[in-house]
Formats: sequence, structure tokens, C-alpha cells
Amino acid sequence: GVRDGLGAYIAKPETYPPDVVVYHNDDFVAIHDMFPKSSLHLLLLPRDQTKTRVHPFDAFEDAEFLAKVKTESRTLRKLAAGELRRKYGKDSAQEQARQAALSADPPPDKLPQGRDWEQEIVVGVHAVPSMNHLHVHVLSVDRYSERLKHRKHYNSFSTPFFVPIEDFPLAEDDARRNPAKEGYLKRDFTCWRCGKGFGNRFAELKQHLEQEFKEWKKL
Ligand code: 5GP
Ligand code: ZN
Repeated sequence: GVRDGLGAYIAKPETYPPDVVVYHNDDFVAIHDMFPKSSLHLLLLPRDQTKTRVHPFDAFEDAEFLAKVKTESRTLRKLAAGELRRKYGKDSAQEQARQAALSADPPPDKLPQGRDWEQEIVVGVHAVPSMNHLHVHVLSVDRYSERLKHRKHYNSFSTPFFVPIEDFPLAEDDARRNPAKEGYLKRDFTCWRCGKGFGNRFAELKQHLEQEFKEWKKL
């Protein structure tokens, strides 16, 4: 069924073009999300057959496996940050200051730091995944995408429903283990960047996200 759609990438990653499969090795396949919910949205798929159909909360109870996933996530986060720098670096105020300093004659002893794009990436899993094969989301923080069409799309990446990989292993009494009880997906909207509330007004939120996206990439 449709919930098994990620299995094909794990089975035969070599059959996909590079705009679909970013890279693959014996243990992982990194792909582009087909319905991206941010301007950059990748998925990390562990290939371990004993884990791929297990809920992430349970799969990550295995400390050795969790460590492997965290290490590979850092690699993919770096790669994603490089992609953001290529996409938006030229617009960024920090990058422009750096370029200006570089081309000064003579250049200053201390160059301004370029923007740390790794900080602009979030990595984690959904408390209730919709796809069966274990996957870790690696996406830019903007939540700016035509594919972000439904209320639950926004909240699934912007409330505790999204569990950062760094938060594992989860404590036994972690509230995120009971996502239905917490009602994360039904919460009022809050802008990821400025914290402004939008109640249940999705169209207004979407307009605001576009404004925030424009400012965020220029920062
Ligand atoms: P989940 O809600 O299960 O954590 O996220 C599953 C993700 O997989 C979603 O972001 C969705 O857009 C993505 N997705 C669903 N089907 C496919 C597919 O066939 N190919 C790719 N590349 N991504 C998919
Ligand atoms: Zn805002």
C-alpha cells in the first residue's frame, strides 16, 4: 500500500536519479521527500531489516543503533547545510559581509564568520509516522512549501509531535509518547520564527510563512 512507499528506496537505491536519492551506503539511504514541507526536505532511511518496520521510539531504544543513526544524521545535516548555503548564501547579509571583507585590499586579519546554516536545519521523527519504513526528517526550518497544504502538515513539524533526534533516548514518562492525548496536531498555530499566534487561521499563517521565509534567507 501507499504506506510502504519508502521501501523501494531502501531495496534499490541505485535505480534512482540523484535528484531523488541523494546518496546511499550499506546502512542508509538519503532521499528527497516527494512532498517537501520546507524549501529543503530530506529523509534518512536506515536499511537495517530488523529496524525498518519498527516505530522510531522503539527502534531508538537500541543504543548502538541510535548512535549510528545520530552519526549519519549529522552527516546529512552538514550536506543539507551546504545545500542551503548554495541556495541562499548569496542573499545572506552575513555572506555578503564576508565576500566584501575577502575582496578588500588588503583583506582584514579576521574575516567575518559566514552564516552557520547547520543551525537552520531540524532533524527528527514524527511521534506518529504515516509511512511504515523508519525514516528521519532532515529539513530546513522555514516550513515554506507549496506542499504544506494542511493544518496537520504545519503542526507535525512545529509542535512536540516532531521529536528531534538529539532528544533520544526518551525518558519513560516523556509526554511525547502519548501524542494523541497531547493533541499536538490540533493546537493553535504558532510561527516557528517569531512566535506569533495564528489561532486556527491557516491561510493567514501561510502568508506569514512566506514573509518569514524571505527575511530568513536574507538574514
Ligand atoms: P511521516 O509523517 O511518516 O513522518 O513522513 C513521511 C514522509 O514521507 C512525508 O514527509 C511524505 O511527504 C514523504 N513521502 C510519502 N511518500 C513518499 C514517496 O513515495 N517518496 C518520497 N520520496 N517521499 C514520500
Ligand atoms: Zn513569524
